[in-house]
Amino acid sequence: MSDESVHDEVIRVARDLIRLDTTNAREPGLGNETRCAEYLVDYLTGFGIEAEVVARTPHRGNVVARIPGVSTGSAGQGAESLAFVGHTDVVPCDPRDWTHPPFEGVVDDDGWLWGRGAVDMKNEVAARAVAMAELARNGFRPRGDLWFVAVADEEDGFEDVGMRWLLEERTDIRPTHSVNEGGGERLTLTDGRQMICYSVGEKGTLPVQVVAVGEAGHASVPTLGRNAVPLLARLIPRLGNGLPEPSAAPEAMAMLKALLGRDEADLARALAEAEALYEGLGETIRALMGSTFAPTMLWGSNKRNVMPARATVEVDCRVNPGTTPTDVEARVRSLLGSDLPYELEWPEPMVPATSSPVDGVVPTAIAAFLEAEGDPGVMLPTLCTGFTDSNYLRAAGGTHAYGFSPFRTTPNDVLEAGYHNANERVHVDDLLLSMRFHVDLARRVLG
Ligand SMILES: [Zn+2]
Repeated sequence: MSDESVHDEVIRVARDLIRLDTTNAREPGLGNETRCAEYLVDYLTGFGIEAEVVARTPHRGNVVARIPGVSTGSAGQGAESLAFVGHTDVVPCDPRDWTHPPFEGVVDDDGWLWGRGAVDMKNEVAARAVAMAELARNGFRPRGDLWFVAVADEEDGFEDVGMRWLLEERTDIRPTHSVNEGGGERLTLTDGRQMICYSVGEKGTLPVQVVAVGEAGHASVPTLGRNAVPLLARLIPRLGNGLPEPSAAPEAMAMLKALLGRDEADLARALAEAEALYEGLGETIRALMGSTFAPTMLWGSNKRNVMPARATVEVDCRVNPGTTPTDVEARVRSLLGSDLPYELEWPEPMVPATSSPVDGVVPTAIAAFLEAEGDPGVMLPTLCTGFTDSNYLRAAGGTHAYGFSPFRTTPNDVLEAGYHNANERVHVDDLLLSMRFHVDLARRVLG
């Protein structure tokens, strides 16, 4: 036995993972997640844990590991199961922008671990892997299966070698519950309370193009024809600020209830109170009350002297769980009115939103862990506006999939500043905190 402490161990694993460059961009030869996958398989099998690399493309491997459940047969069939989930790829970076080199895993004198992936999410992968090891060497025998799944290609997804493919290939991986990235940050409210976020779902997307339809004409006489550009300029403001009307969408209502400690029927008042508790939070919750519309891309004529017959704006539209394309179209048409000529085009199919219950086994276990730590705070269930692999888990097997890994020493502004940006860093004390949380979670859910 080495006398390395478990804190040193989780720091070592996180640094080792950061040093394996798994930059993922849409260029041949990038990714190389197999480097991390082989490292993790070596590490986990060292404690007698079943672990393997599962790869569609040899250099882009995923890790699947399991401590089998004991209650109902060797595969744990029938008993509830839990998965620790993560991704091993990272987004590109330019080392010139960094205080410490992004692939060296420097720990400075104040205990900050610097590097690409320190927050997204080699920190969490390390914490979950060491939690598996800690459980195995302490003889933990879960009732149902405890999975560890660390996949490739989350940040891009173009090659389809990560979670979506893995769940199709491995129909045995259908955990009842999972915990992945997407939560754990804390916000200090203006009344002094600490809010601790956990993610219950993700908004979906349905981009829409609004095409103003006129008649082409020569630009030398602007009144000839019917130039589509000024028509489009009249249509765009009709989308307003892009936020939905206040409505009692369940995810937004759960956030308001957690914040205010009561059910507030007056939504405008509830949103104003949320905004007063934390700048920007009222707006965020309002955006979760329905579909949002943000105009981002424009096309008109491709020649200066030709007034175009068609001018187009592409609108980034994000939708809630349960919203259909018909709902979105009806909303867009009601905003645009019927007095100006336009058409709608749909460049991509809808990616539906998914979510898991706000109150569930994992959220209850998170609250119990925080309580036991003497650090209860107020748990805020959030809906991400981005995408994570939790979506695939919910879609494939109805997994109750959450995003959570606790941060206590790393302030939220440090997390946000480094996320997909230069100088990504995490405090090493949060690596140990996260490792301890995952051991506790497995014991509460499967013990
Ligand atoms: Zn991530």
